[in-house]
Amino acid sequence: MSVPRSISIFGATGSVGASTLDLVRRDRKAWRVVALTANCQASELATLAREFDAEIAVVADESCLAELRDALAGSGIAAAAGEGALIEAARRGADVTMAAIVGCAGLAPTMAAIECGKTVALANKESLVSAGALMMAKVRESGATLLPVDSEHNAIFQCLAGSDIADVARITLTASGGPFRTRSIDEMRAMTPAQAVAHPNWSMGAKISVDSATMMNKGLELIEADHLFPVGLDRIAILVHPQSVIHSMVEYRDRSTLAQLGAPDMRIPIASALAWPRRIDTPCEPLDLASIGSLSFEAPDETRFPATRIAREAAKAGGGRPAQLNATNEIAVAAFLAGRIGFLDIAEIALRALDDWSPATPAALDDIYAIDDEARRRAADLTGLAANA
Ligand code: NAD
Ligand code: MG
Repeated sequence: MSVPRSISIFGATGSVGASTLDLVRRDRKAWRVVALTANCQASELATLAREFDAEIAVVADESCLAELRDALAGSGIAAAAGEGALIEAARRGADVTMAAIVGCAGLAPTMAAIECGKTVALANKESLVSAGALMMAKVRESGATLLPVDSEHNAIFQCLAGSDIADVARITLTASGGPFRTRSIDEMRAMTPAQAVAHPNWSMGAKISVDSATMMNKGLELIEADHLFPVGLDRIAILVHPQSVIHSMVEYRDRSTLAQLGAPDMRIPIASALAWPRRIDTPCEPLDLASIGSLSFEAPDETRFPATRIAREAAKAGGGRPAQLNATNEIAVAAFLAGRIGFLDIAEIALRALDDWSPATPAALDDIYAIDDEARRRAADLTGLAANA
């Protein structure tokens, strides 16, 4: 019998966290759970920590620590809270760390896990968008294995299968187009948070669902791909593919194109990252192309969905721009979900923010945090203005 591998899951109570734990639950003997974390869902986290016999459970929000301690009383599982505790938990250095916190809040624990030099399965795209150059440098320095979990990037990783990046002519990121793919600008103006989070193919957390509706998700993924697969931004294309069956493609210099296909179920890319370079069983539906019948493709419409253009410009500018864009978008999405601004204001605020202020190039992680803070403060002002408009 092989020795179990250890795993920590940051963002264990979220959508990606739940999919990861579902796979762990199906093969309990293969895994030893080190750390499970959440923002503030103390009782849910404690239930998971008990089920998986974790070493430690951590809530980011310190005001939830007492509840977590109570819920874990008598279990022998350690309880901790705060960003420092998240970093400490990441430093326990599990064989595999699943980075599935949403937003730039995941940056510090993800960097701490990378420093351990083991395997980091990365779902938390915002941390790579904000600190891409620093994060990739840390991966090289520590010798960590960074495996992309985002379905498109996992697909590209699989299609590359160790090929030389110099032989890649083009990477195509597919996009479902989100719930408003066929809506006019006037229709989109009135869309509610409930309509925006109702994704046609994927079941995901609220923030990424709104990002899919604005297509900022694809913009962030463009920046993510630029760091993970450095073929040059001009060689990374976006293609709308409403069925979400082809998860992305790699075209080589000889014009051979490889695609990865599968049901739109995150457990497939998560399984690929957990098992890499092997494969494991998943409970996911096999692909039934005969019943799907046909696959369709469209060019992205950057008039109705300007977010991909805004993100491409931020990626081209580089420096602190991607961190600024990410933080601005996080604030705008939160304001939209809270009912304070309209759907179209999200991309409008991103545009205005990038016009209003240009951050200096970050040299260290502290510079990223400073840009993140400043961008959030300015974006909060802009959401206030949009709300009053
Ligand atoms: P989610 O909202 O369902 O879960 C987020 C997790 O992060 C929860 O456990 C939550 O408690 C925790 N969290 C939230 N704020 C936090 C904070 N400030 N500090 C610490 N922890 C915090 O999100 P999700 O849909 O699971 O997405 C997680 C990440 O994976 C995101 O970066 C998203 O872009 C990426 N991703 C998700 C999917 C998907 O299908 N859901 C697909 C691709 C990529
Ligand atoms: Mg994706």
